[in-house]
Amino acid sequence: MNPISSSRREPEFGFDAEVLVVGAGPVGLLLANLLGARGVRVLLVDQRETPPESSMAIGVTPPSLEILRSLDLDRVFQEAGVPVRHAEVHEARRCLGRLDFAGIGSDYPFFLSLPQAQTIAILREKLNHFPTVRLQGGVAFTGLTTERRGVRARLRNAGAAAETQVAVQFVVGADGHRSRVRAAAGLTVRERDYPQRFIMGDFADASGLGTEARLYFSAEASVESFPLPGGWRRWIVQTAAVPGPALAAHLTAQVARLAGHPLRPEKARFVSAFGAKRMEVNHYYAGRVALAGDAAHVMSSIGGQGMNTGFADAELLAAVLARALREPAMAAAGFAAYEKIRRRAFVVAARRAERGMRLGTLRGRAASGLRRVFIRHVLFGVLRRRLAPHFAMLTIPYRNLNHVPPRCLPAR
Ligand SMILES: Cc1cc2nc3c(=O)[nH]c(=O)nc-3n(C[C@H](O)[C@H](O)[C@H](O)COP(=O)(O)OP(=O)(O)OC[C@H]3O[C@@H](n4cnc5c(N)ncnc54)[C@H](O)[C@@H]3O)c2cc1C
Repeated sequence: MNPISSSRREPEFGFDAEVLVVGAGPVGLLLANLLGARGVRVLLVDQRETPPESSMAIGVTPPSLEILRSLDLDRVFQEAGVPVRHAEVHEARRCLGRLDFAGIGSDYPFFLSLPQAQTIAILREKLNHFPTVRLQGGVAFTGLTTERRGVRARLRNAGAAAETQVAVQFVVGADGHRSRVRAAAGLTVRERDYPQRFIMGDFADASGLGTEARLYFSAEASVESFPLPGGWRRWIVQTAAVPGPALAAHLTAQVARLAGHPLRPEKARFVSAFGAKRMEVNHYYAGRVALAGDAAHVMSSIGGQGMNTGFADAELLAAVLARALREPAMAAAGFAAYEKIRRRAFVVAARRAERGMRLGTLRGRAASGLRRVFIRHVLFGVLRRRLAPHFAMLTIPYRNLNHVPPRCLPAR
């Protein structure tokens, strides 16, 4: 990166980067690490001075652990998280089926529960191993100009009025669903809000459920529950309307009534409400600018796949960018392959997330009765053997680079 012009000398990076990654969320951090492992010079900026503490994503799937293994991080993640090897589905206090991840055919026969803040902390720490990567907090991306041989990006230090321009070969927007990089590159999105609403909270765990995940369905609303590290447990309830400030009271009352677990509101670490949406960008790249993670696509978070899909974006994009830097003539073909592969993976994951959310949030006695029959006889009946690999994201097309056939990538 070469500072091109600056009305003030801030921010002073003094670092010659080939790739600018905007956004140090889980996807931008993984991408910067993977590029660092390939020796690429990366400037990673985030408008936040410090990372967020909210827990958000908790499910890390086997394909993501395979990606993390390439950075020697799979063990670090496992030591920090809780491997969830079983899940039970209940309706009206009766068990409809038990899911066992033991036979899914992966080195990681579980999904790992780890709060997003801890995922971010591990990935930030790992950056220290790569001298070609620099992370700069408190720096916001504000715009860009594409040139024949590179991109000029405009960055602003927190609180500073003046902008600094930097010149890089490629820019990646990993800056979340409101991506400013996407807008600056002239890319547009199609998006749709789902009507479903949820409240989630992390509580000191007194459920006695150990490391098991539970889904409780009823004619009225659904409840999901997942173990968290350190003796905590996440509870998510479906809600018709978000009940203002009394979120914790509403959540605990619903969990007691629908799942039979008494929670104490004062034992909550945090409680928040969220909705669900689907969003996809029209193109995953424009010239020398590419998007990854939520900047490119958003699916219902109830499926627990958004971050994992972003991780696979990062892995493929790191390979494409490293090659484009070595062989600039391959850049366009590499980005085109990236778009094709990652769009297909997203579409399948988003469809599954939507169907799962719809099934889980059906209301009324008739719909609930049909769901019970479907879960018992179809999901835990004829589809029984496919169910655990499905939830582990092992059946997503191109789930990681090991599962991208060479013919799908540009040849020499
Ligand atoms: C309640 C909930 C539960 C979820 N559970 C799961 C789950 O279990 N499993 C799963 O896979 N996914 C889950 N998800 C989805 C997951 O949280 C997201 O897919 C993930 O955070 C996307 O990561 P990202 O790095 O692409 O974007 P983000 O996490 O949004 O990070 C973007 C970063 O870019 C920075 N930024 C933004 N604009 C700028 C700018 N102009 N300049 C500089 N920096 C900028 C931001 O500060 C931020 O740090 C869940 C989501 C929610 C809401």
